[in-house]
Amino acid sequence: MDHFPRASNPVRPRLQVPFLCEKVKSSYEVFTFKDYPSSVGVNVSALCNGDLSLDDHATFLQAWLFFGTLVEVLGTADLKVDIEDFVAKSGDEWIITTERLPKYLWMWVAAECVPGWVIDSEHLPRVKECLSVVNSTANQLAKISVGAVSEEAWNAGFGYPPGHAVLLSVILLGELLDNALAGVVFSLPRMKMLSWEYSQFGKYLLQRAGWCLGELDMLGIIEPAVLFYVSSFDRVALKKDHSKCSDKVCLANQIDEKVYQTKHATETCICEHIIVEEEGNRPITEVLHKGDIPIISFDGEKVLVQSSNSTPYVAMSHVWSDGLGNPRTNSLPKCQLERIQRLVNALHPDREPASQVPFWLDTVCVPLHAETRKTAIRRMAKTYDSAARVLVLDVSLSGTSAGVLADELLMRIRCTPWTQRLWTLQEGMLAEELYFQFRDKAIAAESLPEIWYEANSPIKLCTKHFGRPHVDNSPLETRVFRALASDSDEFLKDEIATESAFETLSRHPDCPNILDHTLLYRLDTNHSASFHPVYFAGWTSFQKLRYRFGVGHSALPSVAGALRGRLSSKMDDETICVATLLDIDPLHILSAKNQTSRMKVLIDSMDDFPPSLIFTDVPRMGLDGYRWVPESFMDKNANYAGLLRAGKPGRRTKDGLVVSNYFSYIFPEDLAFPNAGSFVVKGWESYYRITHAHVLTVQVARPAVILEQPPATVSRGIVVDMWREDDGVVKFGRHVGHVSIEALGDKWAGEVLCEVVKLPISYEWCVG
Ligand SMILES: [Zn+2]
Ligand SMILES: [Zn+2]
Repeated sequence: MDHFPRASNPVRPRLQVPFLCEKVKSSYEVFTFKDYPSSVGVNVSALCNGDLSLDDHATFLQAWLFFGTLVEVLGTADLKVDIEDFVAKSGDEWIITTERLPKYLWMWVAAECVPGWVIDSEHLPRVKECLSVVNSTANQLAKISVGAVSEEAWNAGFGYPPGHAVLLSVILLGELLDNALAGVVFSLPRMKMLSWEYSQFGKYLLQRAGWCLGELDMLGIIEPAVLFYVSSFDRVALKKDHSKCSDKVCLANQIDEKVYQTKHATETCICEHIIVEEEGNRPITEVLHKGDIPIISFDGEKVLVQSSNSTPYVAMSHVWSDGLGNPRTNSLPKCQLERIQRLVNALHPDREPASQVPFWLDTVCVPLHAETRKTAIRRMAKTYDSAARVLVLDVSLSGTSAGVLADELLMRIRCTPWTQRLWTLQEGMLAEELYFQFRDKAIAAESLPEIWYEANSPIKLCTKHFGRPHVDNSPLETRVFRALASDSDEFLKDEIATESAFETLSRHPDCPNILDHTLLYRLDTNHSASFHPVYFAGWTSFQKLRYRFGVGHSALPSVAGALRGRLSSKMDDETICVATLLDIDPLHILSAKNQTSRMKVLIDSMDDFPPSLIFTDVPRMGLDGYRWVPESFMDKNANYAGLLRAGKPGRRTKDGLVVSNYFSYIFPEDLAFPNAGSFVVKGWESYYRITHAHVLTVQVARPAVILEQPPATVSRGIVVDMWREDDGVVKFGRHVGHVSIEALGDKWAGEVLCEVVKLPISYEWCVG
C-alpha cells in the first residue's frame, strides 16, 4: 500500500500484499461486481462468519473486493482500470501497488466534473452500492482474529497470513474511495461517510510496534488509513509502561508523586540538582508577590531569576511523565537546565551571542509552598499568554528529525502524550507562537501546511503522475492539466508547460473550451481533504489544539469538546483549567477541597449553560440541584454534539438548570415505571419506543421524559422524576437517567406500556 507517505525510521518494512489474481485478470469482463461471489461459488456469509478460512479465500477476496471494487467504482465514470498499474515486482514476488492510485482519483474527479451535469443521477447509486458491500463485508471480516506472525514475515513485510494482508488492503482502498467519493460528489452537502473497522491484523501490527490500543482510543484515532500509517512508528522505543492500560484507557502517563523520579538528560548522568527556590531563599515567590511572572536563565553555573516585565521569554510545556517534573523540590538536574537553556536559545538565533534567553518552567517557577503556589496557578494563563514563544518538549518527538515530511511531523505531534493531558490544552492554546521540539530543531506547526503544499501542490503531483503535458495525454488528463494551469502560479511560471497544456487541449475537440474553474476548485479542495488522509487528520487535529475559545457559557461546548478524553494525574485540576479557559478566576476553586466541591464552585460562577448539557450521557454530580452537571468534562465517551445547538441558553437556579423548547412526555402517576430495558408508549399521534441507556438505580414516582430532538427517528432523552410544579409552567424534575426514543409511527401491534401526555415545547423544565 504505497499511495501513503512513508514514516521515517519505520519499525517494520513496508507491508507487501501478494498479488494473487493472475488467473482472474480477465474475468471482470465476464462477471459484474455483485454477481462475482456466486459466479465463482463462494458463500460470503460463511466466509464472514468464520466458517470458511479467510486465508484460503485470499485470492477470491482480492479479485472481488480489491480489483473488483476498483473496476466497478471507477467504471461508473467510464475509467478503465489497467490491472498492470496495480501490480509490481518485489524480488521474485508479484505484489500489489497503489502508487498509481492517486492518478485514478484525479481522473475520477475530472470525469465527474462536467459543467451543468450532476453525478448523482446514475453513477452515484452504483458507487454507493458497491462501497456499501465492500464496507459491510470488510467490517465483518475485520473481526476475524489473526494468530502470531512469524519473525521472518515481520522482518520481510511479506509472508503474512495472506487473507489478512489482502483484507487490510481492501479496507484501506475502500476507505480511500469512500473519502474520494465525497470529493467527487462535490455538489452534495456533506455526504455521510461509511465507518470502516480496522482489522485484527491491523491491530496486531500496531501492538507489535509497541502501540497501546487504549492510547489510540484516547487519541481518537479510528481512521484505518491513519492507524495503518502510525503502525510503522516505533512506540517500543518510548519505553512507557502500558501494563496497567486497557483497550479503552491508557494510564502510561499518569504519575504517582510518591514514587516520581526526576530524570537526567541522559540515562547515565548523575549530576547534581540546582535548587531555584527553597526555605530561606525565595526569589520566585518575591517576583510573584510583586504581581509579575518569574522567569529564569541558566549560565551553566547558577540560575538567574528575574521578573518578566517586558523581557521576552519562552514558556516550556511538557508532560510530567517524561521526567522533567519534581514534586519534592523546586529543582532540576544541572544537565536538564543546560539542555533546556540550549533549546530555548536556539529558538532565538538572533540574540546577542553570549546572552541567555530566559524561560519559564513549572517545575522550578511554581513554588511548592501552598499559598504562593495558588498565586502562581492563578497567573498560569497569563504566563502562557504573555510568553513570546511556547516550546513543547515531548519525548515521543525527540527521535524524529524536523526534516521529515510535513505529514509525518503533524502526525507525530498528534500522537504525543502532550495532546492527551489536561494542563497542556491551555498551554498550547494560549501560546502566541507554539513550537514543538524535534530531534534536531524546533518547528512551528502552523508553518507546516505551507511546507506540505509546497511539496504536494496539485500541479506537482499531477506532473508526477501524468508526466509533463504532452499530446498523447488523454482528454481527461488534458482537462486536469488545463484546469491547474489556469491558476497555478508555479505552473504559469513554466511557460512551456502552460502553453503545451493549452495547445494540447485545443487539439481535443471533446474538451469544453472554457476555463475550468469548477474543476480547479474541486481538485484543489479535495486534494488535501480526500486524497491525503494522514496529512488531513494531522492538520485538523492540530488546528483544534490552537482553537481559542470565547468566554463564558458560549465557550463551554468547545472547552468540553477539547477536554474530552484528556487525563490528569490530579483530576481535581480539571476545574482550574476549565475556569482558566473560560476566563474565570480560579481563586475560589483553589480553596475548595475536592473535585465535587470544586465543580460546584465552578458551576456557581456562571449563570447560563448550553441546555443540551442535560442530555450528555456521562456520570453526573450527585448533589440536589446539580444532577444536570457532568462529574467531569474529560469523560471520553461524552457526546457533546448537541451543545452547539443555537437557541436560548439554560439558566442556572439553586434548584437546577431551567431549559425550554424541548419535547417532553409525562407518564401516568400510578404507573410502575420500568427501570431497565425497552418499552413502547402511545403518544397523541404516534407510538414511541423508549430504551434505557442504563439500569435506573432509583425508583421513579412521577416519571417524565425530555427529548433533545423532535422524535422523528432516534433521539436522546432523559428521565426525570417530577417533584414540584410552578403554575403549570416550570416543572421541577430530578435527573435520574438517560434514554433513547424512537418514533414508531401511528401503527403498532405489540405491547404498549401506557399512554403519555405530550407537553407544549414552551414549557420550562427545571432539571436538578
Ligand atoms: Zn497505555
Ligand atoms: Zn544529569
